[in-house]
Amino acid sequence: MHQPTFRFAPSPNGHLHLGHAYSALLNLKMARNHGGKCLLRIEDIDTQRCTPELELQMLNDLEWIGFEWDEEPRRQSRHFEEYREALKELDAQNLVYPSFLSRSEIKKLIRTRETAHGEWPRDPDGSPLYPGLERHLQEPERNRLMAESKDFALRLDMEKTTQEIGMSITWTEISQDGKSTSEIERAPRLWGDVVLARKDLPVSYHLCCTLDDELQNITHVVRGKDLFEASSVQGLIRKLLGFKSPCYHHHDLILDEEGKKLSKSLKHKSLLEMRASGLNPSDIRRDLGLA
Ligand code: GLU
Repeated sequence: MHQPTFRFAPSPNGHLHLGHAYSALLNLKMARNHGGKCLLRIEDIDTQRCTPELELQMLNDLEWIGFEWDEEPRRQSRHFEEYREALKELDAQNLVYPSFLSRSEIKKLIRTRETAHGEWPRDPDGSPLYPGLERHLQEPERNRLMAESKDFALRLDMEKTTQEIGMSITWTEISQDGKSTSEIERAPRLWGDVVLARKDLPVSYHLCCTLDDELQNITHVVRGKDLFEASSVQGLIRKLLGFKSPCYHHHDLILDEEGKKLSKSLKHKSLLEMRASGLNPSDIRRDLGLA
């Protein structure tokens, strides 16, 4: 049995806001309540958008708000080789195929199909499912197209995968006080052929998050409800790679006055701005219910 191990896993692709503060401090509180460790993982695979300056600011913001982490943070951008190995393992199971349609080509194709046949299925986040045109290409043709293409994505063949390991993924969801649990069952098929890697980015969020949770012996994944449904995809990848499942707590999101979840791109007030306006971190912690 591993010591209870929690992690906060932000991406330094913008400034942190109150939602991040809540998630980080809740992880810390739950870790301490369980007599466990709390780790920080820097999810910076998008090396274009994640910069050293933003990372430094993120670390300053986390220290300011009172988040403490127990070990040297794991930086995903230093582990691309490990992610490539995991991808190879999935490929060896014949569950991965390259797809070549660009985002605009996908949109166009789906618009045409919707005009002819009615609504096209969407994933739990509302994006149309990938049509999977290239699933049945033979290897020489795949290799030729990969060599010629400016861009491609490597996708998980969801149909084949669910045929092999079954239709449902289950996990244990625990309450914030850790006293009650419920068993969740989901069908990852609803996400369609998810992207595992791209030509210019050797790994996707789902794959590196799943691998890192395993490599870091994470026993409790505490994160926002916006990632609740995504847990089925990560559960599926975990099963394919033979990993055990951590338990989860998907917490409520901090919303703005209009009921929208806080986001870096919508320019909600950052922790940096809150600090500059003279706010006190202990008042913020109290307002978050995490004093
Ligand atoms: N890096 C992700 C984010 O900043 C969080 C991933 C996770 O907690 O699983 O939204």
